[in-house]
Amino acid sequence: MARIVITEFMDLPSVQRLEAAHEVIYDPQLADQADRLMQLARDADVLIVRNRTQVRGELLAALGRCRIVGRLGVGLDNIDVPACQARGLAVMPATGANALSVAEYVVATAMLLLRRAYHCSESLAQGQWPRQAASQGLEAAGKTLGLIGFGAIGQLTARLARGLGLKIQAHDPMMPATHPAYAEHHTACVDLQTLLATSDVVSLHVPLSDSTRHLINAERLALMKAHAVLINTARGGVVDEQALAEALRAHRLGGAALDVFEQEPLPAAPHFVGCPNLILTPHIAGVSTESNERVSSLIAERVLHALSSPSA
Ligand code: NAD
Repeated sequence: MARIVITEFMDLPSVQRLEAAHEVIYDPQLADQADRLMQLARDADVLIVRNRTQVRGELLAALGRCRIVGRLGVGLDNIDVPACQARGLAVMPATGANALSVAEYVVATAMLLLRRAYHCSESLAQGQWPRQAASQGLEAAGKTLGLIGFGAIGQLTARLARGLGLKIQAHDPMMPATHPAYAEHHTACVDLQTLLATSDVVSLHVPLSDSTRHLINAERLALMKAHAVLINTARGGVVDEQALAEALRAHRLGGAALDVFEQEPLPAAPHFVGCPNLILTPHIAGVSTESNERVSSLIAERVLHALSSPSA
């Protein structure tokens, strides 16, 4: 029987599936209790995390007998993967299990930002009728969606967006123009500059790495059309938040949605207060009832399978 420590929220039926065969310590708040987490880590055979537990440095050193790190999601920037591999720890992400939730978030948010009609509930409730101000929005059909990063989520977003009549283009230096995914999703392969200059919606789907940190900075924001909107569901740090806030305030950009931030939870951020057509969400693009079930059951299954194999 292995000891499994789960540090962030996991769908209960999947926790119970693990409990049926192993000793499980499940505390969704454990990620915030550094001392307790360090103690529990010492006896853990499996550690299961989301994106807030930093599996590196001291915590990694404490994981003396751990063999598996399960990741309830896909981005691995909170896990020192090379160091895990060097210590013989298998890192298991829930590849693909939350892609649909992110893709739906992107398409819905793109429509909200383009339409600019949903910010007046308060004024209506106060007896105003701002019909003129709320009638200036744009339709999605016929507009161009630019996807930066054309992996699993980028491709699924392209598929959904085509159904609305959006034209799709993508930039992904790791996928040459001959890659069949472009033809499959009726997507033009373009360079970054062309994508930024010609898209009405720009959506980010890259991992956070040295090459993507502040990929969207003041200079690149300046390339975008003044009515275009930017959506970041990828990782905080890919967008320079200060530069984005300045572009919105100066009406050099039509709107933006950020689901991810350089620092999470986002501390008070005065630069965002009062920014026009800005939507902020607390890193939930990939988290819906259905995706939480899929992500949790995939990780439970992968962990159980690995623990039952002879090498575990
Ligand atoms: P993926 O690995 O399938 O695709 C990422 C793509 O980005 C790859 O095709 C890669 O070639 C490309 N890429 C890498 N560097 C690039 C660069 N400099 N410019 C352009 N493209 C580049 O990953 P995915 O499953 O599609 O996830 C994409 C991102 O979404 C990840 O950062 C992930 O962490 C994030 N994500 C966020 C949430 C959320 O809740 N907000 C949920 C799931 C995933």
